[in-house]
Formats: sequence, C-alpha cells, structure tokens
Amino acid sequence: MGAHCCNHDHQSPPQPDPKYRRILWIALIINALMFVVEIIFSQRADSVSLLADSIDFLGDAANYGLSIWVLAMSVQTRAKASLVKAASMGIFGIAVLGHAIWNAVAGVVPDAQTMTLIGFLALVANVSVAILLYAYRNGDSNMRSVWLCTRNDALGNIAVIIAAIGVFGTGTAWPDLIVASIMASLALTAAWQVVKQARQELHQQT
Ligand SMILES: [Zn+2]
Repeated sequence: MGAHCCNHDHQSPPQPDPKYRRILWIALIINALMFVVEIIFSQRADSVSLLADSIDFLGDAANYGLSIWVLAMSVQTRAKASLVKAASMGIFGIAVLGHAIWNAVAGVVPDAQTMTLIGFLALVANVSVAILLYAYRNGDSNMRSVWLCTRNDALGNIAVIIAAIGVFGTGTAWPDLIVASIMASLALTAAWQVVKQARQELHQQT
C-alpha cells in the first residue's frame, strides 16, 4: 500500500521487448480498472477502507504508465510526473481521512459483504498482475521488488477484508474507519517521500 511499493519502472532496459511492454499495458489497465471499481463500490458500501485501498491502484497505474513511457521522457519530465502522482495521492489520502471523519460523525455502518467481495477481487487482481509480471519478466527486472510490491498490495486488500469481518462482528463502522485511517496515513507518508525525491531530482538537473 502506498506510493512507494510498485516501482517496476526506472530500471527499464533500453530495448524493452514488446511482450513485456504488453504485460505492462495489461497491468496498467487492470490497476486503472480496479481504481474505478473500488471507488464506485466504496460509495455503494459506505466503506472508507475500500476508498483508501483504491489509492494504491491509482499509484500503481501511474507507475506502469511511467514505465511504458519512460523512454520518451527526460529525468526532469519524469520527476514532474512523479510530483503530479504524489500530489494526487496526497489529495486522495486527505479526502479519505475527511471521509472517515464524516462517516464517524454520521454513524454510517458500511456493508461488510460488499467490502469482502471487492477486497477479494482486488486481491485476485494484484496476484494476477504479479503472476503475469513473473511469467514475462525481463532479464534484469527485479523480482524482489515485484514480490515486495505484491505483498504490500495484498496486505492492503487483506486489511479491507479484516475490516469487513470487524464491521460484521461489531455492527459498527470503527474497524472500517481505523483501517482506512492507517492506509491513508501510509499513503500520505509515501506521497511525501515521492515529493522529496522528485524535488531532489529536479534540483540536481538545474
Ligand atoms: Zn501497489
């Protein structure tokens, strides 16, 4: 979970083979789709943790986009793109925290069944992308980073499912709100780190 987890880019070899490029496109589409799906169902189920989990799909979709277009981009353009990514994730993180407070005050109890279902779908999506990346991995693509990224993403999805079980068990929104707040805070921290690194890269260029 967070901005830092899924960086398959930056180490792209100068001549990426078309097959691997296609896999990156598939990963981009799956992550973008899951971002939209989690937003829609977070609203339908009144679940803030689902909303928080969607931030990761947004960040990962942006990362796959960057790895696809990375060759055409200068270091400076890439750093600026990272800044845009971090800013949108930061805004999203703040929105999630606001949403959590709103739901706490309003006393809305999320729909545990939808949360479980979408959390599980997100888990399947993340594991599928990992299997694809593993099967079509590039010679020097870092398997460890794919593994770490998938583990972090899966932990986020499992956190949503655990929150759903907690909501079901307690009949309150608190498990959802607590998990959402933790995930949003992690996303904010990660976004801040990306901003720091991007600013450093921009600085070195001038
Ligand atoms: Zn991720």
